Amino acid sequence: MSAQIQPRSTRAIELKGVNKWFGTFHVLKNINLSVGLGEKVVICGPSGSGKSTVVRCINRLEEHQEGTIRVEGVELTNDPKSVAAIRSEVGMVFQQFNLFPHLTVLENLTLGPIKARGMTRSEAEARAMHYLERVHIPDQARKRPSQLSGGQQQRVAIARSLCMEPKVLLFDEPTSALDPEMISEVLDVMVTLAEEGMTMVVVTHEMGFARKVADQMVFMDAGEIVEQGPPEEFFGAPRSPRCQKFLSQIL
Ligand code: ADP
Ligand code: MG
Repeated sequence: MSAQIQPRSTRAIELKGVNKWFGTFHVLKNINLSVGLGEKVVICGPSGSGKSTVVRCINRLEEHQEGTIRVEGVELTNDPKSVAAIRSEVGMVFQQFNLFPHLTVLENLTLGPIKARGMTRSEAEARAMHYLERVHIPDQARKRPSQLSGGQQQRVAIARSLCMEPKVLLFDEPTSALDPEMISEVLDVMVTLAEEGMTMVVVTHEMGFARKVADQMVFMDAGEIVEQGPPEEFFGAPRSPRCQKFLSQIL
């Protein structure tokens, strides 16, 4: 009999039986979530249901207490090497952009590649300009974040993540802080990334975006994944009353 070659894991992210408490408050209850390479997962649910905490656990902005989290097969543990390995593969885009206000757009984009990846300034700047073009604002490179609109700042934040060339991008309500007329310019960039095959976990209530790109929808309530499935089923025939109620309120 010939030796079996183990196929490399095709899971980009895998959470198994993840539990987390803030003090005595049980914030994540037995979370199981599997994201394949290139897959797009959209997480929705009421405020306070644990959506941010789930994505923050995936890159160790929060620590889980039970269960396992793997990114590209690497288990997230207290070993700083595991945390560093995972953070180097995972980019994150926040609701509040989190750009450095005292740095120019270009400096915001080159900081990580220079400090964490050891790139030269000119290499890092070339890469930064490449990604600023991808988000359609190369002309803003020399400005400070405060001189940009919210939609432009969020596109800078996306470009900054892309400069680290992550395998996975996490988005936590990336359009919730934006004026309505700026939402689509950010979602359009995200749709393009999705079409190019980026693995994405997106917390959002933008259900038009979700219908367009999601391979998998996840609905959370009170720290639990209450419903999970392909968008056709999720939107067409949600099973749980909690999910039905939520969708009826936002659609
Ligand atoms: P969502 O993103 O779905 O709105 P969060 O993940 O931010 O929910 O929060 C889930 C629950 O955990 C909320 O009740 C929130 O108040 C609580 N929580 C979040 N962060 C902390 C923290 N650092 N310490 C204590 N409680 C927290
Ligand atoms: Mg949140």
